[in-house]
Amino acid sequence: MSGHMTPEEFRRYGRQVIDWIADYHEKIESYPVSSQVRPGEVAGGLPVHPPERGEGFDGLLADLDRVIMPGITHWQHPDFYAYFPSNSSGPAILGDLLSAGLGVQGMLWATSPACTELETRVLDWLAELLDLPPAFRSGAAGGGVIQDSASSACLVVILAALHRAGGGAPARDGIAGRHTLYVSSQTHSSLEKAARVTGIGAANVRVVDVDPVTLAMDPRHLDALLAEDRAAGAVPVLVCATVGTTSTTAVDPVPEIGDVCREHGVWLHVDAAYAGSAAVCPEFRWVNAGLADHADSYATNPHKWMLTNFDCTALWVADREPLTGALSILPEYLRNSATSSGDVIDYRDWQIPLGRRFRALKLWSVIRWYGAEGLREHVRTGVRLARDLASWIRDDPDFELFEEPRFGLVCFRPRWDGLTGEEGDAATLRVMERLNASGDLYLTHTRAGGHVLLRMAIGGPATGDRHVRAAWERVREETGQVRLGGRAADVRG
Ligand code: PLP
Repeated sequence: MSGHMTPEEFRRYGRQVIDWIADYHEKIESYPVSSQVRPGEVAGGLPVHPPERGEGFDGLLADLDRVIMPGITHWQHPDFYAYFPSNSSGPAILGDLLSAGLGVQGMLWATSPACTELETRVLDWLAELLDLPPAFRSGAAGGGVIQDSASSACLVVILAALHRAGGGAPARDGIAGRHTLYVSSQTHSSLEKAARVTGIGAANVRVVDVDPVTLAMDPRHLDALLAEDRAAGAVPVLVCATVGTTSTTAVDPVPEIGDVCREHGVWLHVDAAYAGSAAVCPEFRWVNAGLADHADSYATNPHKWMLTNFDCTALWVADREPLTGALSILPEYLRNSATSSGDVIDYRDWQIPLGRRFRALKLWSVIRWYGAEGLREHVRTGVRLARDLASWIRDDPDFELFEEPRFGLVCFRPRWDGLTGEEGDAATLRVMERLNASGDLYLTHTRAGGHVLLRMAIGGPATGDRHVRAAWERVREETGQVRLGGRAADVRG
């Protein structure tokens, strides 16, 4: 076997691959949710050396089933409740396939005008669907761009904010002194990583207090830190407020934080990676509070809760100039008349890498397939299931609900009467480990309110009432087993 795959071979194998994916989704419930392999097991099933001669495709499909599948954690399984959902859907998969089929590299408008213009239009659509402020639309001063992840989104907005803080100097060129970023203890870790990458440094990430109950950022403490840092000669660069924190979906008070940012002339980035999708429903538009008046940038991940395969982060800026000012570089080999005309967007100036995939195709495909109505239905189903689960937890004296779920995430813990806090936390983790090892469901944990909590994030497209009900029964069962185990140990001891 050698040479390129012919169109006829591509058709044949392509049909097999599509069938394979359709079969996979049909039988996904037959797999244990999280992979049960040991470290090295997958690698052990793979040849150490690459083939000298091409092998064709049949063997690959066989090895996919034999070697790869045991090492897959099934993120699209209806009983996957870990982290946040990472939605996939038929239209998104097909849109991504079309992108691969076209093989377009959309770094410049000129390298495929449709890649740029579809992205601009689809992000305007999404801004409309989420009811985002007019400034974020492409016809205004700002605009949207698809990034690979919310982490990249925060990295590029920090560079834009540095550019603005430096009066237009490229990134940190020529800006002397210490620069500071402002987060809370609940902000996603990507902010600290971005501080390291940009050279601002983790030590210059200032951690603003949170309300002890709601875990929302305290704007008065932010104000005090900004004043203190300015007085000490630092240049405050950016405040990151979060709508829907990773740990418990806490919501920072964006309007009040925005007032403080305006007073101090600091860039406000709003990270709504998970919860932003909820704004497709009018009853969740409160998540946008303060954006119109205060946000310099805003990011949400359709690859979390909007049925669009990873990777797809939508980032909007209220003013595109600092972003493109910070990131555009025009070497000779990229010069072209469209760029020189100033009439087109070159998205390479809105991101770190030069090259970019045609990601807008999958988002376009999702929005056209579901329509606003279908996207709303998806969010509402997740929220309804989360509320059902929360009500069962609330009604069970053996469990404690951390708080009413705002979106699709439910945080709770078993009550461990008679155990110390530390012993109770260990017992909670044991429940989680037993559940995850069973393969029946997959959940993760966090720590809040002084305890380890179980997190059940509901929002997969295949998750329905019967799954959540069965998952809750399994949580109760395993909690009972851990209680029994504990008692047996006490008796033995
Ligand atoms: N911000 C928040 C609030 C998140 O919850 C997450 C991930 O869960 C991220 C940022 C990082 O997302 P990404 O994986 O797209 O970088």
